[in-house]
Order: sequence, then C-alpha cells, then structure tokens
Amino acid sequence: MRKTSILAVLGACALAAQSSLQNASMVRFDVKAIDKTADPCKDFYQYACGTWVKNNPIPPDQSSWGRFEELAERNRETLHQILEEAAKPDPGRDATTRKIGDYYAACMDEKAIDAKGLAPLQPELDRIANLSDKSQLAAEIAHLHRIGIGALFDFSSGQDFKDSSLVVAQLDQSGLGLPDRDYYLKDDAKSVELRQKYVTHVQRMLELAGEKPDDAKAHAQTVMRLETEMAKGSLDLVSRRDPEKVYHPMKKAELAAASPALRWTEYFTGARAPAFDAIVVSWPDFFKAVDGLIQSAPLEDWKTYLKWHALHGEAPLLPTTFLKENFEFYGKALSGTQEMRPRWKRCVDFTDNQLGEALGQKYVEKTFGAEGKERTLKMVHALETAMGQDIEKLTWMTSATKKQALAKLHAITNKIGYPDKWRDYSSVEIRRDDAIGNGFRADEFEFQRQLDKIGKPVDRLEWNMTPPTVNAYYDAQMNNINFPAGILQPPFFDNGMDDAVNFGGIGMVIGHELTHGFDDEGRQFDPQGNLKDWWTPADAKQFQQRAACIDDQYASFTVAPDVHLNGKLTLGENTADNGGLRIALMALLKTIGGNAGKIDGYTPEQRFFLAFGQVWCSNEREEAVRLQVQTDPHSVPKLRVNGVVQNMPEFQKAFACKAGQPMVKNSACRVW
Ligand SMILES: [Zn+2]
Repeated sequence: MRKTSILAVLGACALAAQSSLQNASMVRFDVKAIDKTADPCKDFYQYACGTWVKNNPIPPDQSSWGRFEELAERNRETLHQILEEAAKPDPGRDATTRKIGDYYAACMDEKAIDAKGLAPLQPELDRIANLSDKSQLAAEIAHLHRIGIGALFDFSSGQDFKDSSLVVAQLDQSGLGLPDRDYYLKDDAKSVELRQKYVTHVQRMLELAGEKPDDAKAHAQTVMRLETEMAKGSLDLVSRRDPEKVYHPMKKAELAAASPALRWTEYFTGARAPAFDAIVVSWPDFFKAVDGLIQSAPLEDWKTYLKWHALHGEAPLLPTTFLKENFEFYGKALSGTQEMRPRWKRCVDFTDNQLGEALGQKYVEKTFGAEGKERTLKMVHALETAMGQDIEKLTWMTSATKKQALAKLHAITNKIGYPDKWRDYSSVEIRRDDAIGNGFRADEFEFQRQLDKIGKPVDRLEWNMTPPTVNAYYDAQMNNINFPAGILQPPFFDNGMDDAVNFGGIGMVIGHELTHGFDDEGRQFDPQGNLKDWWTPADAKQFQQRAACIDDQYASFTVAPDVHLNGKLTLGENTADNGGLRIALMALLKTIGGNAGKIDGYTPEQRFFLAFGQVWCSNEREEAVRLQVQTDPHSVPKLRVNGVVQNMPEFQKAFACKAGQPMVKNSACRVW
C-alpha cells in the first residue's frame, strides 16, 4: 500500500492511538494538567503539562502519546462506529456506505486473510519471478507503481515551481526500506544496529514467503547492497527543503539520454501516463545512480529487490505471521512500540488512507456543523489582521518588501473543514473478500488520478488531508491554509472555553500555518505560488540573520544524551511556531480588549500560554524520538513549547520571569 507523503504540516503525523473514550472529559484544556510544583520560568513545558505527562503513560501499542494522539483516537472511534455500521451487509446501503463498509469488512476478516496465505499476492510475485531480461524491468516497475508498491523512485504530478498554474509530471528519489538515506550511511552504533536488524527482518520476510534460510540470508544482503547504493545517490533531507535544489525541469528526451538503462518510454507507457514533453526531476544525480545500478547489478538481484518491496508494501494486509514480523521491525525496533495495535484501528486507518474522502464525507455528516466553520473563519480573519499589523510594524524590513509581503498575505486563501466537492470513487471496485485486491485498486485509482492532472488546470479546491485528520497545512504553491474538521475540536478549539484558551490552541495553529508562507521555504514563493524572489537583497539578508538565530537556538537543544535537534531540518517549523504564537497573542489581545479578567486564577495571557503549552503535552519512547529527530521537520513537543516562550517577552511578563532564568533567552530570536 502506498504511504502518504510527509508534507510541511503542523503535527508529527498524528497516527495511531490507544482507545481513551473513558477519558473524553480530559481532552479539553484543563488546569489540572498543570504541575504547580514546577516553576514556569524554569521549565514552562513541565509547568503546563507536568501532571498530564505523569498521568498519561504511553499505551503499549503507541510509540508516543500526546494531545494530538488523544484527539486522533477520539476521531478514530467515531470512524470505527461509522465503519462498523457501514460494514453490515444491508442491501439498502448507499454506494458510498457500501464502498467503505466492504473495504473495512474485507480488511477486518483476519480469518479469511490467514486462510488465503500468500495467494492474493502470488500473481505479483510470479510476474517478478518470470522476468527474463533487464529490458523488462521498466514496465514491471511501472506496473508495481500503479498498484501502490514502492520501488526505486516515485512518479506523480504536481504544480510547477516556476509556474504554479501548470501541473507537470514529476520524478522523485525513493526505493528505500529504511526511513531515510542517512540510516544507510551513518556509522554510529545505533545506526549500525538498526541496519543489522533490518537485514534480519528482510531475511525473515523472504523466509516466510518460502525461501530457504540460506537463500533468504543472501538475498537480504542483496537488498541492503542495492538500497545502500540508492541511498548514496539520494539527496539529504535538509537539502530537500531548498526548492531550488529539487527543481530540475527536463525534456523527456534529455531524461532518456541521461539514464538510458531506465528505459523511460517503456516506463511511462506502462504507467499509463498521458502525453507530456517536460518533466521535473527532483534530483537528477539519483537517477544517474539508479541507472548505473541497473546496468551493473544482475537481473536476479533486481528480482530479489522487487520481491522484497512487494512483500514489504503489502505486509499490513498479509497473514498474521507477516504482520507480526513487520511489526517487530517497523513497530518495535524502529519506533519502540511494544504491542501491535488492535486490528480495527489499523483497518480504520487504511480506509481513511485509501478511501479518505468517502469515509470523510460520512464523518463530516456526523460531526461537523456550519457553526464550527464560521467561528474558525472569524479567528482566521483575526489572525490575518494581526499578521498584517506585525508585518507593518517590523523594524528590519523596508517598505518595498513589506508591500510584497502584505500582497502575499492578502492572497492567502482559507479552506476549513472539508472539501466543497467530494472525490468520486465510483470506479474503484471494492470486494468484501479481497483485502489486498481492494488495496491495489484503490492505489491504482489514486495513481491514475494524479497522472491525469498532468497538463490540466490546477484544481484549487483539492485537499491533501482527509477531514478526520488531526493536523493542518500551508501549501506554498497554492498559497492556501487548510484546517481539516478533525482538528477543530478540543483541546484546539472548544466552544465552551474563553477566547484566551481558543487563541492559544487553534489560534496558534492558524498563526503557525500563516507564518509558513513566510518561513525560509515559504518566503521564496510569491502570492501566486511561484518560486520567485520578491525580496530586496538587504531584506533577504536581514531575514537570513534572524533565521540563523532560530537555527542556532534549536540546534543547541538535546533530546537524548547523544542526540541534538537538527536546527536546519526544523527551521521552517520553528519559525512558524514562533511567529504563529506571537500573532495569535496579538489577535487575542485585540479581540478581548482590556476587559477579560482571571479565570481559575490565571490572567488571559497566562491562560493563552497554558493552552498553547498543553496542546503539546506528550510522552515519547526513546526510539520514536530518535526517528523523529532524524526524519521529521518538527521539533519534539517539549521544545516546541520552551523554544518559543524563551523568545517571547510577552510570556516572561505574563509569568513574571526574570533575566537569567531558563525561559528567558539572553538574546531572543525573532523573525516574525
Ligand atoms: Zn508547520
């Protein structure tokens, strides 16, 4: 099954969570979460979250547990009820209900899946085994990509960086079984140990698929060798944040000349891509490396590699033995999770992943009213006004660049809750007795849907997240901000709470996404979403100096004895966190005027900062922290809180902190 890509989004992909319905009353902002024995000026995160952290240990089937996961779990329970109902084979079901219900029912039928063994995947394994010449590889890779099995690289479509009105074909590096290239290349003890465990895992999966232990062992080494070569050819994550570095438009003929062994004509034909001339390649060196590898490695090695990726990609819907082995590595070794999640949770997530706007439609009907949309819009407008005032007041920016920045701010569009038009899955055939086949067909639908966009006008109404998602995003090429219905709930947004709490929660989220339009990445795009420099050189230099302050600040934080945050990987998110909270506070103060008094013993400013801090209360396993620091552009929760308040005189005033205390940074960083 195809995995959803990591966008520049607000929360660390908030997947997976333990059922906590009995704790539903705990989900809102709560002064009882505070650790009053802590000093807010020494460690504000501990003060805001200490009691929550103590009382909410990580469930065994989670790698981390925080407010995002808590809310995601509540949403998942709602989806669970919808799907259990939809799965009843009632002939009166409407088409959408039947589709999601049968998909879920097939996924839940563990007995049938176990009884079939590898049979549903066997035709794919046979196709790979029957390859007789390297010239057939391109067509086979195209076929695997169509049905959602990852191999070597990614092919899809997207807006052109330099002309955002165009949808172009795109090629990107991929093809690894470990989370990132660095996992193959680093020499520290942890990385070496994980690589050994990975090779053992590949071997076991091949054994489960019927290979003799000696063969499987040798084949696992083959996989490691090929993937390591691909990793060496890949661009690192920090460089991938630079749009200029991942933008290489080429003619199809140039691509074919640069990487002849990849046989692009056969690939594009097999992928059923529409006709096109130009293609944007993220990192041409990667394709050169892969081309060389195709020439040098024997066909048998490639067959091993593809077989591994077919087993790996479909493992979640294979029999229990495969599932368990998959969990041993990706759940336990990589993320520190102790137990596999119950099947229903996984099947709910697969349905959300593969038929997201069908399930989302039912979710919205059940949970989201027009009122939520209106109140959120009102807050968005308050935040936009605050951001405009913030830009106007900046001392370091000239009026020429300010004018451009304001034009960009005013061009940002808002999408709230769910799509105006739902995706039509009527062509996807879903069978009650074919879990893997359903996965193939849903992935094939999505793959073709992406390719069909090439050369067509941009669809500005499309969403990149499903409605129940507890997250939000800014899209630099659309220049829009997007808030799924799933996040417009406590603790982010609560009708029963005062403004201070709501501005510290969803207000901060809105501010964060708006600020992304002006972080080190977003600032390179113009109001129409084109990669185009609108800064005077002097202002750009001023920006870079201020961004470097944030880079240094976060790079100085440690998350484990031997692990520092990566200040450059997290720069955009940290900039958005800092700017977002500041403009949320500006918007709050303007909204309440001087009138609001204390509630629960806290001033409006204190409640604002507490609500912000409590959004990030969480516990994480060490493995999960290591994984996050290496691959995720977001800082860990505790530092998303303390890193920001250290830079804010408004916070220090609210809690009467003094110079020299840990939450008062000597020379505070400020971009926005
Ligand atoms: Zn973000």
